Amino acid sequence: MMFQATRPKSPPLVGLAKEHLESLRRRDFLAGAALIDGRWIEGSRKDAVVDPATGEVIAQVAHCGAADMDLAINAAERSFAQWRGLLPEGRGAILRTWASLMLAHSEELAILVSSEQGKPLAEARHEIGYGAGFLQWFAAEGERAYGETIPSHKPASLLQVRMQPVGVAAVITPWNFPIAMITRKAGAAMAAGCPVIVKPAPETPLSALALARLAEEAGVPRGVFQVLIGDPVELSAPLLRDTRVRALSFTGSTEVGRLLLEGAARTVKKVSLELGGHAPFIIFDDVDVDKAVKGAIDAKFATSGQDCLAANRIYVQRGIYNAFVEKFAAAITRLKVGHGLEAGTDVGPMTKSSVAEKCRAQIRDAAAKGARVISANQNQEFGPNFVVPTLLSDVTDDMLISSEETFGPVAAVLPFDSEQEVLARANFNEMGLAAYIYTDSLRRALRLAENIEYGMVGINTASFTGPPIPFGGWKQSGLGREGSRHGIQEYMELKYVCFGDLVV
Ligand code: NAD
Repeated sequence: MMFQATRPKSPPLVGLAKEHLESLRRRDFLAGAALIDGRWIEGSRKDAVVDPATGEVIAQVAHCGAADMDLAINAAERSFAQWRGLLPEGRGAILRTWASLMLAHSEELAILVSSEQGKPLAEARHEIGYGAGFLQWFAAEGERAYGETIPSHKPASLLQVRMQPVGVAAVITPWNFPIAMITRKAGAAMAAGCPVIVKPAPETPLSALALARLAEEAGVPRGVFQVLIGDPVELSAPLLRDTRVRALSFTGSTEVGRLLLEGAARTVKKVSLELGGHAPFIIFDDVDVDKAVKGAIDAKFATSGQDCLAANRIYVQRGIYNAFVEKFAAAITRLKVGHGLEAGTDVGPMTKSSVAEKCRAQIRDAAAKGARVISANQNQEFGPNFVVPTLLSDVTDDMLISSEETFGPVAAVLPFDSEQEVLARANFNEMGLAAYIYTDSLRRALRLAENIEYGMVGINTASFTGPPIPFGGWKQSGLGREGSRHGIQEYMELKYVCFGDLVV
């Protein structure tokens, strides 16, 4: 079965319009200078930032090296005493002002995200609100970072547990959520009292630098929030080596996460990792097929599929398998592919060409092993970073897509017969980030919620993230949690204090 789009060929993709450029320049959002020790550094070299849809250069950013990182670590360490010394509500007030500035400039930030990352503008707008939400959430969590008093097992003693900031935190972030992955980490660290050094993905530095501009305006003191762009290995080496960097938080691939964990072991840092996913999306035959199709579209094609929560294996019970595939294919062909800034776009380009290549390799592999390939929009011309939304049906467990994260708009559908079978297949994966279950049976939902080996489970919903929830994975999907009341603990140490000889 092959679906072909009937729309005429689209005109060439157009990126940032003149009025966009003017509004971004007015805010210095295209200036490209790094922020080190309260100063905007132009750098002796520049790195180009490219619109992934058109290949056009949209800005040049300062290229920082290891010596710049050493300066940043010195500045962060110097700022620590003053920052941790503020009352929690003092830090909270600054974080809230920062969030308000993000919201006040949400349109410019969204245009920036869409331009360098490629995601549809509506999703970029959503990311700004989501990202600001973490600053607001952690502003309050910092004010609630209670310690404990332990009923004493020693005579005449008072046993206290205090929560104290760990020290300088290094934050290495990906390109798929260039704003929210920074605020989810920096909000927690800064609320705890830690200065933060951000090394964003080289593909999306402008979003990080825009956040730094707004942080400065919000009154974040010198050295408390710094952003350096450059070669990831060169910039991460000083962060890993330096004993003054006490916490490291990373979101990205499991391969790089492993390297950073190994590197951080030498100085025994507090490490939190949010790594790859391979979400099973399990649909039982007692559900409304249309609701399941809507959920699968949302869980697969958000962020153009470049999402660690993306449904990577859509298991459909045999009783509704054919009906689901037919409706899902029809919904996929309706997705509009285009530039993120173009009205109505559902799926933009892949931010990195390597991700597009990986998608194509998975499609080739699945087709060679017998999957049916159904794709939309094949008559249209897009750039090399685009992957048209594609459905692979009759996928089997031996195909690459069944075990390797896709990170693009390619949906794999696999039939199953029984609950026991699908649970075993869902758990047979080293990733354990998110899982989705669609069923009308409460008993089955409760059983699966208990037995599925994933850190986050959506039952009859594809939408469950936000500041209040503990975001994180089991197994090789990561270590630690972000957001929620747990997130701040990644940047705090417990200190137990025993007061003895208290005769009352
Ligand atoms: P990546 O892990 O290489 O990049 C993420 C971040 O790590 C970026 O800031 C990058 O500059 C930095 N980095 C890369 N190599 C490094 C090193 N040796 N030392 C220190 N920092 C380093 O991810 P990628 O190659 O851009 O994407 C590949 C795959 O990773 C994707 O296809 C996807 O499977 C996964 N990924 C997951 C997430 C997520 O949200 N969990 C985000 C991005 C990528």
